[in-house]
Amino acid sequence: EWLARPAVQAIFAALDGRDGRTRAVGGVVRDSLIGRIREHADIDMATEFLPVTVMQRAKAAGIAAYPTGIEHGTVTLRLDETTVEVTTLRQDVVTDGRHAQVQFGTDWVADAERRDFTLNALYCDADGRLFDPLGGAGDLLNGRVRFIGDAARRIAEDGLRVYRFFRFSASHGGEQFDAEGLAACRDAADDLEHISRERIGSEMMRMLALPKVGKTLGVMDKLGLLCIEPGALPALLRYEAMGGRSAISRLALLGREGLERRQADWRLSKAVITKADRVAEAARLLRNGDLGWAAYRFGEDAVEGLAVAAAEQDWPRERLSEMARDLGRLPVAPLPVNGADLENRGMKPGPEMGAALAILERAWVESDFSLTKDALMERIFH
Ligand code: ATP
Ligand code: MG
Repeated sequence: EWLARPAVQAIFAALDGRDGRTRAVGGVVRDSLIGRIREHADIDMATEFLPVTVMQRAKAAGIAAYPTGIEHGTVTLRLDETTVEVTTLRQDVVTDGRHAQVQFGTDWVADAERRDFTLNALYCDADGRLFDPLGGAGDLLNGRVRFIGDAARRIAEDGLRVYRFFRFSASHGGEQFDAEGLAACRDAADDLEHISRERIGSEMMRMLALPKVGKTLGVMDKLGLLCIEPGALPALLRYEAMGGRSAISRLALLGREGLERRQADWRLSKAVITKADRVAEAARLLRNGDLGWAAYRFGEDAVEGLAVAAAEQDWPRERLSEMARDLGRLPVAPLPVNGADLENRGMKPGPEMGAALAILERAWVESDFSLTKDALMERIFH
C-alpha cells in the first residue's frame, strides 16, 4: 500500500503530515478508498507550506526536491523509488467568468473547491484519516462524477475538464454519465479548440488504457470530440469485450488514417505512434495468416497485433485462442546468417547481398525458424 511506504511516511514527516498540514489528494486517495490498486501510482499531495518551505524542509530531511512547477506552487519530491508532487494550497480569487486567478492559501476547503470533481477532492493525512469537504466519498461510491460547483462555469475555466469528465466517467462511473455534467459537456463541445493538444492527448491516452471505454468513446464521437472512423467503434467495443485494455492497441484499431490524425490532434509522441504502427502492421500480417512474419518482425507486439486483428475481424474466440497458441509455440529466432557470413564466401556488399539476405530471411521464416546456418548458406552457394 502506498501510504505505508517508508518514503511516503518520510515525506509526510518532513511536512507535518501527522498534523494534517500536508495531505495526499487525488487519484491515490480516491482509488485506495475503493480498493483499487495503483501499481505505478503518481502521488499528489497538498500542503499549507509555501513552495520554498517545502524545498527547505525536504532537503533538510534528505529528500531530493525539484521546483518543477513553482509558479503553480508545485515541488516534486523524490525518495527511493517514490515520486510525490507537492502543491501548495491554492484558492481562486476574482474570476472574470473564464479565467480564475490563483493564490496560495491555507484554506483546505477552498483548495478542494478549485478541483474538478468531488471524487477528486478527497484528501488523507499521514495516518490515512480521510478529509472529504465536498462529499466526494459518497459520489465515488455511487459512481457519480460530479463537477464541483456549476459545471458550465467550471468547463469555461478549463475546457480540458470535458475530457476529464469522460475519462473519470469511464474509470469510476461505469460509463454512466452524470446528467448535469453531460449536458454541460455537450454545450461546450463545439468550443474546445483552444485547449492544448498535449493536454488532450495525455487525458486520452490515460483513458484508452482503461478496461471499458468503448461506450464513452461513442458518446464523445457523437459530440464531435473524436472523429472515429465508421467501423472502428464496433472493433473497439469487441476489443474490450475480449478483455483488451492497451492504449496502443486501441490506437492501432483507429486505422492508419485515424492514427495519423490522432498524432496531429493529440500530439502523440513518436514512440507511441511507432509502437501503434507496429501493432497495426502485425495485425495486418496476422489477418493474412502470416504468423511467422508477424512474430519475426514484431516480437511481443505481434501478441497485441493478434488482439487487434481479432477485434477488427470479429474472429470467433476459438480462432483467436488457436492462433495465440500457434504464435506462442513458434520458436522465433533471428536469422542465423548475416552479411559477414556472405562476405566470407566472396559476396560483395551491395544489392546482390541485399537480395540474398531477403531470400534467406524468407526461407528462415517459412521454415518456422528451423533451418541450420549451413542449410541456409546452401541455398545461396549451391
Ligand atoms: P489519475 O489516477 O489519472 O492520476 P488523478 O485524479 O490523480 O487521476 P491527475 O490528473 O493526476 O488526476 O490530477 C490530480 C488532481 O488534481 C485531481 O485529482 C484533481 O483534484 C486535480 N486536477 C487535475 N486536473 C485538473 C483540472 N483540469 N481542473 C481541476 N482540477 C484538476
Ligand atoms: Mg494523479
